Amino acid sequence: MKRVGVIGGGQLAWMMGDAAKKLGVELIVQTPSKNDPAVSIAQDIVLANVDDAIATAALAAKTDVITFENEFVNLDALSLIEHQDICFRPRLAALTPLLDKYHQRCYLRDLRLPVPQFFALEQQEDITSKIEKLGFPVVLKSRRHGYDGQGTFIIPDLASLQQQLDLSLNQSLFLIEEFVPFERELAIIAARSVEGKVVTYPVVETQQEQQVCRRVIAPADITPNQAAEIEAIAHTLLNSLQVVGVFGIELFLTATGKVLVNEIAPRTHNSGHFSLDACETSQFEQHLRAVCGLPLGNPALHCASAIMVNLLGYETSSSDYHSQRQKLAEIPQAFVHWYNKTESRPGRKLGHVTVLLDHQNREAANTVAQNIESIWYGN
Ligand code: ADP
Repeated sequence: MKRVGVIGGGQLAWMMGDAAKKLGVELIVQTPSKNDPAVSIAQDIVLANVDDAIATAALAAKTDVITFENEFVNLDALSLIEHQDICFRPRLAALTPLLDKYHQRCYLRDLRLPVPQFFALEQQEDITSKIEKLGFPVVLKSRRHGYDGQGTFIIPDLASLQQQLDLSLNQSLFLIEEFVPFERELAIIAARSVEGKVVTYPVVETQQEQQVCRRVIAPADITPNQAAEIEAIAHTLLNSLQVVGVFGIELFLTATGKVLVNEIAPRTHNSGHFSLDACETSQFEQHLRAVCGLPLGNPALHCASAIMVNLLGYETSSSDYHSQRQKLAEIPQAFVHWYNKTESRPGRKLGHVTVLLDHQNREAANTVAQNIESIWYGN
């Protein structure tokens, strides 16, 4: 497999660029704008939205295998072309139970993986008694197309819930789940090969603000039993879906040490960006290895620990933030990745910095993160 079609041309596809060169793989990207980050590393592009299945058929004609950097695709339309000898990795059936958050929760529960209590909202349904069982606050989530906290609402009481639902024409587009008063949020990146071998990256701690990932510490400061439990969850899930490629799994760790799965990303994930600089094989190389049918690489850290900090937009601007980036690059053992987006908007992921550390100390990692953020956001 030498020519890989990638649906989506954002930073996740862009970060496959170096690995593709190393492996001698050509990337052909389906993306709606010539300004998208991955256009610069693509051998060729198909200029179309990610949910345009006709464009994906054109992409297939140019490639040996098709993979995803963005899962907001039209699965029904794609399934019509999957039969025409087009090879999707992961296969479409591995995405089917995941794209709707309610279906995803049901799939995980049926696998007996631990998830928060949840239920789907039916149109016009009176949910008072179901809500009473959970107790406020609850979390209201759009079933589809949520990302970076868009479509996730923490709801303090019944009046606010009603208000939020009134804004939507159709309440059956939502699910409700218990608010998990987590102590930490964790994540794991796992990859599965064509032969069915699964490898996992070190479990990381992710820190979100306003539901958007701000920082990732690798490895997470958790017990070996907790790490083993999370690795087992990854194995169960990837084997059950017969995934080929990389998946990201987000989890909650409660104060009593209980692990709950929050969300599955059927692709490379922000919580694995540290692997570009801190691991023997990055998640992006691993994904290409898997979808090209190559043996998987070693996911281990080659340093004691690492901290990754997202550089989020904080204004609407077309600045390239050159001087801030230069200051960040001066931090010892820092690697700055800049996605070359033409426009900055509040909350938009513009780049990230990973700093390698020679010790495992959560406080010290947080101090490095604060330094990065004071350079980036100012005080
Ligand atoms: P998205 O798909 O937008 O990333 P998530 O479901 O991952 O949405 O939620 C984003 C963030 O919102 C999580 O990282 C977490 O901080 C918070 N969150 C989501 N669900 C819950 C929950 N049930 N209890 C507490 N916090 C939650």
